[in-house]
Amino acid sequence: MIIDVHAHLFSWDIPSRPYWQDSAKVLAAMFRKPEQLIVDRMPRLWDTTGEKLVADMDTAGIDKAVLLAIDYMPGGISTPFDLEEQHKVYVKAAERYPDRLLVFAGVDPRRPAAVGFVEKAAKEWHVKGIKIHPCCGFYPNEPCAYRLFDRCQELGLVVLTHTGPEIGPMYSKYAQPMYLDEVAKDFPALNIIMAHAGMTGYEEAAMLCSVNPNLYVDLASWQKMYLAFPEADFYQRIKVLLNLGGRNRVMFGSDWPILTRMHVGHTAWTAVFKEARQRAAKFGIEFSQEEVDGILGENAARLLGLKSG
Ligand SMILES: [Zn+2]
Repeated sequence: MIIDVHAHLFSWDIPSRPYWQDSAKVLAAMFRKPEQLIVDRMPRLWDTTGEKLVADMDTAGIDKAVLLAIDYMPGGISTPFDLEEQHKVYVKAAERYPDRLLVFAGVDPRRPAAVGFVEKAAKEWHVKGIKIHPCCGFYPNEPCAYRLFDRCQELGLVVLTHTGPEIGPMYSKYAQPMYLDEVAKDFPALNIIMAHAGMTGYEEAAMLCSVNPNLYVDLASWQKMYLAFPEADFYQRIKVLLNLGGRNRVMFGSDWPILTRMHVGHTAWTAVFKEARQRAAKFGIEFSQEEVDGILGENAARLLGLKSG
């Protein structure tokens, strides 16, 4: 079974217009392109029903994907969109494809009603976990996040948190894996996924997994790492994650549709892991079939309580 633990559905209003405006500004400056050009291209990413995502999953041979809602509140300022509306789009998509899509709620812990929102998401929408985005301006080991984790631990929800660099007006400093060491120890029954495995901070993320049995990593956006490093170095990094972090705690993710549509397609990205044994062997790097199966889906199936096979 192949499970993508990190995907999104987007539109102008999901997660919010300011999110797309801010992204366009940064990308235009980065790639020295007119901002309008970036804005004009954005609708290529839109999917509010799950139809495009599931079609891509079919092509790539992916069985299930976890949809992560995003509560975009840079600087703690709530943006003018309805968090509940966004979640309803995600929940509807999951109802449309009940065997294929799962939902994690997205909520900023600084919202006064955050805990109640998570309770509602668990009871009414049957979400399997929550996603938080510390780069919006809070540390995951702050009291506001702790009250949320407390409830997640009681409800048996998984917490997925962004780790690694992020574009402005968000700040990367909040997303260093190290802050999760304290969280993992203070909430021993809470399972925490470090999304993106800290990116270049992957060694720190892997070391933290080696001392905290409830920490996991996902490989969403590692398409960037795949393009940046020679293939041998890329597989060596995956090996480090497995050797240090444990072979049961590294999970496949795509960040669909962001990177899959722009750089490495869903099918090519899935093949990087499906064919890892043969491809890495060329460089003298060995993966066991168990390790490959674990990354592709068995680890996520176990964590999310899904039937594997
Ligand atoms: Zn993402």
